Amino acid sequence: MLPLKKQRSRIITDEQNAITNYGTTFVLLNHDGVTACTVCHLDTTYNSSTDPLCSTCGGSYWIPAVSCHTITGIISHIDGSELDLTKIGGLEIGDYKVKIMYTDLAYCENALNNRVAFNVDGSSMTIYKITPTVLKTSLNVFMKKSDKQDEVAIR
Ligand SMILES: [Zn+2]
Repeated sequence: MLPLKKQRSRIITDEQNAITNYGTTFVLLNHDGVTACTVCHLDTTYNSSTDPLCSTCGGSYWIPAVSCHTITGIISHIDGSELDLTKIGGLEIGDYKVKIMYTDLAYCENALNNRVAFNVDGSSMTIYKITPTVLKTSLNVFMKKSDKQDEVAIR
């Protein structure tokens, strides 16, 4: 039997190959915080612009900064047997599980925290839960159908 560290790197290689060969490419919108408008001034009482008609920030003063990151994942539907295995409450048959590389964790957490919606096979989905595998070789990202209209579509 291989030592754990070697086994782990072999699992990572196997999973990486599987994701590369069978995965779907997503464009993930990353929220990089906000920047202050340089044209108008901040109304500290309302935390918005003193000029509600500012043409640069639209009156909000804070301009969201976003960037796009391409990640690849293997999409599967949640079925009955999977529901028993995941031990995650709140999932339903028809929700999605996407297996992605562990190195994409920060982008997925960002999407979860900012409720970024994805278009998966025509349905709008948001990330519900992110669970790393035991050896932290990959992530299972669970997604639920959402009413939110999405900002990013799978290519
Ligand atoms: Zn402004």
